[in-house]
Amino acid sequence: MNQLPPDTRPFRVLAIDVLDRDIRILRIAPADGGRFGFAAGQYVRLHLAEGLQRDYSIASAPGDDGLADALEFHIRISGGAGSRFIAEQLAVGDTIGVEGPLGTAFWRSRHTGLALLVAGGSGLAPMLAIAEAATDGRHDEDIALYAGVREPADLYCADRLAAIAAANPRFRQVLLLSTGDPPDARWRAGLPGDAIRADFTDLAGAKAFLAGPAAMIAHTVPILLALGIAAEDIHSDGYDN
Ligand SMILES: Cc1cc2nc3c(=O)[nH]c(=O)nc-3n(C[C@H](O)[C@H](O)[C@H](O)COP(=O)(O)OP(=O)(O)OC[C@H]3O[C@@H](n4cnc5c(N)ncnc54)[C@H](O)[C@@H]3O)c2cc1C
Repeated sequence: MNQLPPDTRPFRVLAIDVLDRDIRILRIAPADGGRFGFAAGQYVRLHLAEGLQRDYSIASAPGDDGLADALEFHIRISGGAGSRFIAEQLAVGDTIGVEGPLGTAFWRSRHTGLALLVAGGSGLAPMLAIAEAATDGRHDEDIALYAGVREPADLYCADRLAAIAAANPRFRQVLLLSTGDPPDARWRAGLPGDAIRADFTDLAGAKAFLAGPAAMIAHTVPILLALGIAAEDIHSDGYDN
């Protein structure tokens, strides 16, 4: 890792936990013992090895001062070089480069109105961070999370969702299955955008945050615009994996 961009800092790997069959939880901290400033919902570019860098959303929220001692990431192991490197070669104690923070789809504490969080697959990571930051910041408005997955087993972090719901009476979650029948009353069938269209008639004044596959974002954004959310209030950093 010789030629890194100037705003890249060395971080030490603290933990790589197996969450389910294809998700790893990666935790890293600044190698110099310092803290890292970012806003909930942002992502960084991880410089994993020479010529191997990938973007990952920060799945944890910073403190009230906008700083964190450590960062958490939820990595879906897709068979590609970057995620396989994390699953098979990266080890606790290794050093990697962190470039950023990057991205504009982040939580602003001055936000007013309904916060609509739309997640597909591992796009849940930054939405958890936003929901926690809004809850910690005592955001006194409704927060609605629409989380879409392929099958129920893909919904990792049910415990964090439950903790947010317990701490924030204004938080509600809609869990969506893109294929198959919903297993119980917590689930609905369909895509996040279709569920939002069914649940709302007017979203004027709301703020929307989206993360996940580019196809999910492309499907959802026109629905949000048709329901009256201003284009400048729709924030997303899309990705495909
Ligand atoms: C803003 C942003 C935020 C992101 N946040 C996250 C996040 O929080 N979590 C996350 O998991 N990802 C996230 N991503 C995606 C991430 O950057 C990578 O694109 C993703 O991990 C795939 O990288 P890879 O190296 O594993 O696959 P790549 O090598 O880049 O390959 C791309 C795709 O090709 C296919 N492929 C490649 N090689 C093989 C093979 N040998 N066998 C089978 N299929 C193969 C896979 O489907 C793979 O996903 C984010 C992307 C962006 C832009």
